[in-house]
Amino acid sequence: MKWAEKLHGLLSVGGETCLICGRDSRYRAASFLPVRNAGPRKALRTLCASCLARIPWILSISCPVCGRPERCGDCLRRWERHFVCCRGAVRYDDAMKEWLAVYKYRGLEKLEPILAAMLSTAVEMLLNPLQDGVDVITSVPLAEGRLEERGFNQAERLSRRVAQWYGLPYEPMLRRARHTEKQSFKSRKDRLEDMKGTFALLEERNVPYAMAGTVPTSVPFSASAYPRPLPGASARPLRILLVDDIYTTGSTMNECASVLRRGYPGCEIYGALWARS
Ligand SMILES: [Zn+2]
Ligand SMILES: [Zn+2]
Repeated sequence: MKWAEKLHGLLSVGGETCLICGRDSRYRAASFLPVRNAGPRKALRTLCASCLARIPWILSISCPVCGRPERCGDCLRRWERHFVCCRGAVRYDDAMKEWLAVYKYRGLEKLEPILAAMLSTAVEMLLNPLQDGVDVITSVPLAEGRLEERGFNQAERLSRRVAQWYGLPYEPMLRRARHTEKQSFKSRKDRLEDMKGTFALLEERNVPYAMAGTVPTSVPFSASAYPRPLPGASARPLRILLVDDIYTTGSTMNECASVLRRGYPGCEIYGALWARS
């Protein structure tokens, strides 16, 4: 199918039309949706059965650290890991590259709930084994130049939607500290070295404390107030769900996690990725 036809599909209105291909999207009960929350399920049902079938879900993982479906060299080589674990929802194949490109560069925001719904499967993989969930969702910040070009940070947009679906607070917690050159042509070692100092903590954010038996409430962040729990707060550490769109070597995720851990000593970081390459 041609780009123009695909775009026609994306631009056309009407509840029965698939947002990706423009065909009839009346949901067939047999279509597989690997997510439990009603919000993402509803979003995924706006796709036709054949587009749904093209989503390369990562359903069985081989690396418990980064959630990769095959044996993992990156995690074995990483000496200092700052996140507990990461999960990616889908493989970053050609179809997914196209979907993300349409969303990212053409600003077709109708795709946003669909991508967020896919991300939700990774979020559920992380949340399901955790007894009392996470306290806050945040995302990897975009380089400033990119933000101006594009007008939005897709990781933040997707996280905010996920936060709504799962009843969690979203807080921006990180910022880009300096501009990084294009990473693609560098060796892995150079990439890791270059990451140092790329991110910094956003100061004076309201970060919620885990309150035993209550809805988490926000208190003004101060380094001295954390990690001492508030009266009645549970003893477990602050848990942060960190979202990014694509996971390649994990160096961005790890660097962000390291900055968060310096700012919120003792916190646990869980990474949710829309796709992994
Ligand atoms: Zn379709
Ligand atoms: Zn791994």
